[in-house]
This record gives sequence, C-alpha cells and structure tokens, in this order.
Amino acid sequence: MKFDSEFLSKVQSESYVSPSVERRDTPGKGVGLFAVKSIKKNEIVSISGGIVLPTHTWETIKEGFGDYAYSIHDDFLIVPINPGDPSDDWRMNHCCEPNCGVKGQIIFVALRDIEIGEELTFDYAMTESDPGYGMTLYCDKPTCRKRFSGDDWKNESIQKKYEGYFSSYIQEKINSIK
Ligand SMILES: [Zn+2]
Repeated sequence: MKFDSEFLSKVQSESYVSPSVERRDTPGKGVGLFAVKSIKKNEIVSISGGIVLPTHTWETIKEGFGDYAYSIHDDFLIVPINPGDPSDDWRMNHCCEPNCGVKGQIIFVALRDIEIGEELTFDYAMTESDPGYGMTLYCDKPTCRKRFSGDDWKNESIQKKYEGYFSSYIQEKINSIK
C-alpha cells in the first residue's frame, strides 16, 4: 500500500505526544514539555518519529540537526523530519533528576508519578553514546553533573539510577561491559 497525498495531508505528526503533555516556551531554555494532567509512573508520554539514517550519512549532514538525533544502533540514528522545527516529541529537555525514561527505542514513559505543571525531562545518558558528544548542563539540581558526556552511560551510579529506563540500544551496551 502507498499513502496517497490526501492521506498524507491529514497527518498531523510523524510521532505521538500524550494529550496529558503540552509544549511550552521555557524562559532561558527554549521549548520544553509540561504535564497538563497528572501522569502515572510508566505511562507513555511520547513516541518519537522521524527519519532513520545510517550513521555514515548522518556524519555528512549533522550540522543542521543540533542536538536533535539519537542512536538506535551503532550504525543507525533517528532524526526529526524537520530539524528546524522538530515535532513536539523531540522537545523534552535533559535533567540530571529526570521524571521520564525510555522503553524500547522510541517510547518515552514517566519514571515516576508526575504532577500537573511539572516539566517533563529525561537524562540524555539514557539514549546517548557518542563519546564525542558533550554539553554544559544547567539543571538547578544539587546532583547536576554540570557537564554531559556521551560516555555517561558507563557510570555505574547512573546505570543503577535508571535501571529499566535506558533505551534498549544503551542497555545492550551496558550489558556488554558488565
Ligand atoms: Zn544537570
């Protein structure tokens, strides 16, 4: 079956964001996702969609994508269709004390019960494994690591903290070094 143009014109998004979640501007941080209804632990908050690219292709075009990409295999990444204005599933920010995590490769769930008004966050260590990737962290938590590294998943305390909430790609990596 091929999707016709009429069907495609009605598709709102290539991904899913829970109706309990809303995209908002956050002062100083750009855009973020917020709970507009209370969310139970393990409830799905979003499912990522986009384009699957071989890593070698990504390497040649990555400049335009900023932080919007993550690996699902050593040889493949998923990236948003429109990196200049990614769909809302791409808008969840990092926090060193996150309230969301990953199930499988593209499903994001609540790590604990979330109250109305809370910003939804995950830890990039749950999906990121590029040792060349790093960024300064600003989450105002006492446990903030201050600097994110693509090697953070190797940290045993982080492995323990997010057990069951890493992407399966990262979890396989963790299993392979244990
Ligand atoms: Zn932090």
